[in-house]
Amino acid sequence: MNSSIAFDAHVDSLQLALDLGCDLGRESPGQWDLPRAIRGGVGATVLVCWVDPAFLPHGAQTRAWALFEAGEDLARRHPELIRLVGNGDQLEKAQADGCLAGIMGIEGGHAIENDLDCLRAFFARGLRVMTLVWNNHLPWIRSCQAGAGADIPRGISKFGRAVVVEMNRLGMLVDLSHAGETAFYEVLECSSQPVMASHSGCLALHDHPRNLSDDQLRTLSAANGVVGIVFHPGFLDAEARAADAAVYATSAYKNLKGDGETARMLLQRDHLRKNAPPLPIERLLNHIAHACDVAGVEHVGIGTDYDGILRAPEGLEDAGCYPILRAALCKRGFLDSEVEAILGGNMKRLFEQVTSAGMAAEQAPFEHLYSNLAERPPGAAIPQGSKGAQANADGRVVEMGTKPVSGTQR
Ligand SMILES: [Zn+2]
Repeated sequence: MNSSIAFDAHVDSLQLALDLGCDLGRESPGQWDLPRAIRGGVGATVLVCWVDPAFLPHGAQTRAWALFEAGEDLARRHPELIRLVGNGDQLEKAQADGCLAGIMGIEGGHAIENDLDCLRAFFARGLRVMTLVWNNHLPWIRSCQAGAGADIPRGISKFGRAVVVEMNRLGMLVDLSHAGETAFYEVLECSSQPVMASHSGCLALHDHPRNLSDDQLRTLSAANGVVGIVFHPGFLDAEARAADAAVYATSAYKNLKGDGETARMLLQRDHLRKNAPPLPIERLLNHIAHACDVAGVEHVGIGTDYDGILRAPEGLEDAGCYPILRAALCKRGFLDSEVEAILGGNMKRLFEQVTSAGMAAEQAPFEHLYSNLAERPPGAAIPQGSKGAQANADGRVVEMGTKPVSGTQR
């Protein structure tokens, strides 16, 4: 494998494109954009359409489509930098042509609004990853967060199983980050394909509901899945989580106001970075090393959650920092082949396997993006989406990015 190719399993930057009009093909104010990712040696990225639950009950699907179109627009504007891909062959071809391979994902199964036809419509357009649940419980799957009502299944419902089976049939990658523990095991039982946990850490190192226990890591690995280790300091380290919480509690932080939630997130990020001590990169390496010890080095990858988190470990502040992570892993004692597997090879193998087993192997999405490039006027404007969901009502705890968490601490 080419040593310059990394695979980031979870990046949230499309909100910046949609809500703030950022062109991610140029330097953006966020943590991820194409110039920095490519400079950092990233060859594939899952571009996530994270749907704020505030869009429920009737706007979640619409919001997901708007984010999806922001991803398409990025690819249409910068065909020399990124190509959206729907299976392993397309990924290989994109990388051989010198492009970053973009894989479209949805975070939060509420985006399909309890409708398998909606899932199929997203697939037909090119969706290849879905994080089944976010921090809000769904009628068909329980989140890892506390506070589920009596109407929420302990794990997954009959419809939840149907979603997993359909994703297998289509050739979509099931993502179990954010899923409750019982849901995690039940999905693994009913999935005929390996799954990933795209952006999580290790519970053994920091007891946080978003992290995976050793048994979960072993079960994921036994099913040939991959865990993407997340960069969020609050998941990686108890002290960092406490430091973040102390900043969140200040009136200075609470009073930060932007033009919409995405703009506010940028202000929160700058404020947090100035006021919380940096997290040494070793704390991230500890999670990677532990996951390798427990799950095996073939089952560990990276899911940064850039632009879904407010800060990252020291030295890894943005997508251009992959060479630093690469060097740190080498210094830690990982073999070159292991570093390549962790940074990209394992996630790539998983994506190829799942998409080749389903309809995705035959489907050629996104061609409409590239068929009329010559007709497109240069510098056409990025469509403006909804101006920032007014999701984070004052008083709600915000632990990462624009993503609100109601109620209990995660
Ligand atoms: Zn997430």
